[in-house]
Amino acid sequence: MKPLPTFDYLPKPYTGPSKAEVLRLRHEFVNPAIFHYYREPLMIVEGRGQYLYDETGRRYLDAFGGIVTVSVGHCHPHVTAAVQKQNETLQHTTTIYLHPNIALYGQALAGKLPGDLKVCYFVNSGSEANDLALLMARAYTGNFDVIALRNGYHGGSQSTMALTSHHTWKFNTPHSFGVHHAVAPDLYRGRWTTADSGPAYAAEIEQIIQFATPGKIAGFIAESIQGVGGAVVFPDGYLSEAYRHVRAAGGLCIADEVQTGFGRTGSHFWGFETQDVIPDIVTMAKGIGNGCPLAAVVTTPEIARCLAERIHFNTFGGNPVTCAQGMAVLEVIDQENLQANAAAMGERLLEGFRNLQAKHPLIGQVRGQGLMLGCELVTDRSTKEPAKAACLHVFERCRELGVLVGKGGLHGNVLRIKPPMCLHADDVDFLLDAFDEALASA
Ligand code: PMP
Repeated sequence: MKPLPTFDYLPKPYTGPSKAEVLRLRHEFVNPAIFHYYREPLMIVEGRGQYLYDETGRRYLDAFGGIVTVSVGHCHPHVTAAVQKQNETLQHTTTIYLHPNIALYGQALAGKLPGDLKVCYFVNSGSEANDLALLMARAYTGNFDVIALRNGYHGGSQSTMALTSHHTWKFNTPHSFGVHHAVAPDLYRGRWTTADSGPAYAAEIEQIIQFATPGKIAGFIAESIQGVGGAVVFPDGYLSEAYRHVRAAGGLCIADEVQTGFGRTGSHFWGFETQDVIPDIVTMAKGIGNGCPLAAVVTTPEIARCLAERIHFNTFGGNPVTCAQGMAVLEVIDQENLQANAAAMGERLLEGFRNLQAKHPLIGQVRGQGLMLGCELVTDRSTKEPAKAACLHVFERCRELGVLVGKGGLHGNVLRIKPPMCLHADDVDFLLDAFDEALASA
């Protein structure tokens, strides 16, 4: 295997507590729900561009981007400078006083959205954004029922856990009242597998409205490509038909762009644009801030007004520092043409993975768009039996070879490749070599 592509950066010598000590402290003082990847946990102490460094100074290609969050690269100098400048000037006051950042950033972000999606509400996480979108949909329509998709992930708070549709993420609490899950339009594992089955899948939404609700719904929420669910891409025509059914029942259409937004799909800035629809509410997080706690709900002025009927407040939302970071991220995406790079690198990866699929029977399907890719492993291509153990092997072996990827899908058999959008062609080739070697030994 070729070595990692050369990179002109020297990490700082690490002088903090040892990895063993950090692990011990985590076990003692951090909630055990905070799990870590890898049999032998990895400690990461520095990052630059598309690379991460462990405490020994070893460099890794980061093909998971802090769970699809580091959009423009680790510690991008333009982003770091903007944040540093704001940190030295004013860190926090809340929105009870005017500050230019929230206003200017609101304008810049709204400028990236189509149609009448022009009013932003800033919060701190994807769960919070989806929670607020639900509230808006219910407040605006006066309806309660909501439809989400099976295999979707929308957060871990009480209300978003209800939307999330994997038993593995759900606690045994009464959180799902008024939430219905429609079957996901999954062309690999779903009932229909042909490219023209979008409307057939969408018809399920109409059925749910007719059989499980009062015939009126508050809304429908879907990721534009299912992320945690393993990069499930919907067939063309799915969302437009789904939206038609939802709107006929008085509901609002919510696009969860937490993973797919900000150019990651390559062909479009927003994932929903790949389905040729305009939602009523768009939620975003992760890549919006390149790693800071920034998220947003963007909607139309008319829908936004419903939130002003009561007092609604978020202490950190629209904070001057996170808004400065969000603004700098938007600037870098534009200045460095990262969306176009995501398209080109995504194509190169997809082609490489298809070649690997021809060579390794373990690969059942390769899918995704831009830098939102999944590689599903199966023990048998005809039964599609999930190759969970092999997936774990490839995942661990890739780390040994210097590539960090993610895992996903209900069965944990999908490798998720979602690197920062500053990825280079030689990184792609390195990643593919690592996969080739890892798959060969699985
Ligand atoms: N929506 C999607 C599509 C996500 O992937 C996630 C996080 N994985 C969330 C919402 C929740 O975001 P957060 O973890 O910031 O609450």
